Amino acid sequence: MSEPEISFRLNPLLDFFHLLVSREPARSVGRWVARLGDSLPPCPAEVRPEGLGWRDIGDYADLVRAVEAEGERNESWHSCAQMLRDSEPIYRKFLAGWREELKPAAASALEEWREDFRSRRPLESIQRLLRKRYPYDTLIIHSTPLNPTMSYSPGLGEIFCGSEKRPDGAWRVLARISLFIGHEVCHILMEEASPTLLSDLRFAELVNRWQHEYPALEYPRYGIPEECCHAVMNRVAVDTGEMAYTEMKKMMGGGLWADCTLYDIIQAGWDDFQRNDSGWASINDFLIDCALEFLSGSGPSGAAGEKA
Ligand SMILES: [Zn+2]
Repeated sequence: MSEPEISFRLNPLLDFFHLLVSREPARSVGRWVARLGDSLPPCPAEVRPEGLGWRDIGDYADLVRAVEAEGERNESWHSCAQMLRDSEPIYRKFLAGWREELKPAAASALEEWREDFRSRRPLESIQRLLRKRYPYDTLIIHSTPLNPTMSYSPGLGEIFCGSEKRPDGAWRVLARISLFIGHEVCHILMEEASPTLLSDLRFAELVNRWQHEYPALEYPRYGIPEECCHAVMNRVAVDTGEMAYTEMKKMMGGGLWADCTLYDIIQAGWDDFQRNDSGWASINDFLIDCALEFLSGSGPSGAAGEKA
């Protein structure tokens, strides 16, 4: 299999869609975006930006068609398609403001990422670290200033990363290419193993057991893979020389990682996982064992982790 083709994209239509589904980031970008956001009708909460892949969406009509196709299966997306049809004149105003106010910063973030991707080679690093090949023939990286999350991937070889310079430490950490590539490609590779993490019966049993013992936590289904992706993105950033492990832990400790226990178990076992004779056939096997070790120890800490 040849190397994947990498492309970096600006995408005003995707930024508009982010504004439509989440008004939150608009406040910190500029009053013109907030004003436009206020003139948009409310979007159903079930419509999430990660529900759509963007590789085939080139213009407004494509976006409406893609949302309509989702609407065949889901009523909320159906009403979103109608909202999008009604919002086209607002998109034209948005585009004028986007070109003036958002494009310069998004384009410079993209240039930085392109250069860092070339010099640091984070995709090679994560494939080596996870002992697994990236499964798609393309990887499209979208710079999206209005992205309400740090970064996410709808799968299928696309990653979206916020490029608005938010002042908080977590953003500064995550908007570096080794980190968001490390994090999102780890999600992709866990779902490409066979069985995929979310379809693995041992993982389902683990989540059930966890939820039974700690019913107040919504944590396990999403939290277990998240901790693994945090640990792996650190490994990639250290491997590519983009950030020292201690620097990252200092910036994020007490915030996202207030409870580092599972994260620390993953880090402690990592060198063993790296050895070809480690006995773990895939990252998923390793992660499930780490989560079992966590669960058989003290379990989640804090009030939300009180046992049933
Ligand atoms: Zn994640």
